Amino acid sequence: MKIKAIKDWGMNLPADQPLIIAGPCSAETEEQTLESCIGAAKAGAHVLRAGIWKPRTNPGTFEGVGEEGLPWMQKAKEATGLPTTIEVANANHVRAALAHGVDILWIGARTTVNPFAVQEIADALKWHDVPVMVKNPINPDVKLWVGAIKRLHAVGITRIAAIHRGFHTLDQKDIYRNPPNWDLVLELRKEIPGISIIGDPSHICGRRDILWSVSKKALDLDFNGLMIETHRNPDEAWSDAKQQVTPIELEHMLKSLLEPGKAAKAGEASTELDSWRSEIDRIDALMIKLLKQRCDISGQIGEFKLTQKMPVVQLNRWEQMMTERLEWAQEQDVNSRLVKGIFDNIHQDSVARQRQITYERQQVEEGVD
Ligand code: PEP
Ligand code: MN
Repeated sequence: MKIKAIKDWGMNLPADQPLIIAGPCSAETEEQTLESCIGAAKAGAHVLRAGIWKPRTNPGTFEGVGEEGLPWMQKAKEATGLPTTIEVANANHVRAALAHGVDILWIGARTTVNPFAVQEIADALKWHDVPVMVKNPINPDVKLWVGAIKRLHAVGITRIAAIHRGFHTLDQKDIYRNPPNWDLVLELRKEIPGISIIGDPSHICGRRDILWSVSKKALDLDFNGLMIETHRNPDEAWSDAKQQVTPIELEHMLKSLLEPGKAAKAGEASTELDSWRSEIDRIDALMIKLLKQRCDISGQIGEFKLTQKMPVVQLNRWEQMMTERLEWAQEQDVNSRLVKGIFDNIHQDSVARQRQITYERQQVEEGVD
């Protein structure tokens, strides 16, 4: 496949720095679209985004303003001199977008999963040489992602980029709305070497406070750009209110990501600090979840030992466990005193738990209330 990297799209987009795409999740009103897009442009965006047709899970919720919003994007383009991008999900969307001078199209995650829909879009694009960005499918299936890109390429589109917006999870407690599964991006890169990749931290995070660290990770992995939802008044947004940032927040974030030295001097590095703190919170929550799993298993072992009339503590096993854990700590370059302390505590708790089980069982057997 011959796919052109963004720098070769001939659109006067930056070649030596990440491409920033920003604008509201949805175009809601003309004023909101214009204000949000002009704000995003001032904050450093190179391309303006907005959703015109919104794929919503529940019918009856705001499903986008539709074609009425297309002239608003035209006005945003005139006001800023920047190219625009919107999501298209069928052939009618493609026709309307092109008729209104939209510069770049993107295919949403709910569309990439459906080869019929992608083919319909590709067919509608056959005689148009327009750049298209393809979001990963909602489910973690790189083949579907590659397949959608191939369908576009087969009708003659060569200016194609991939957008990484994370993948659906069944874990309600996951800190991410759509966990990133970074390894799948590396897989895509292996399948289509040289394809430009845009990170979409907004849809990965689903919340503002961890946007920075996900953006940073994307840039560290040499992504070619970021798409960040930006709204004049995020809390009042008609869709994705929790994940959008104001133009000022976007500006601070971009400064601290792209010019860290300057941002620190201007006292704007707090986004970075907040973000690292959120990562620590996430890791601690995960450790507690794992501890709970460990405690449950240890309880089951206690029950088993009881039925087999085995002693609660088997010294050999414990010594062997500790040795092994200290070796793992050494391999990972983690302080062995820290690891020893943690596992001594865990072991004590586990023994106490198992003794408690034995005690309760004896009480039952002896008929004590
Ligand atoms: C969006 O970009 O607003 C959007 C709907 O994204 P996704 O297709 O990734 O859910
Ligand atoms: Mn959105």
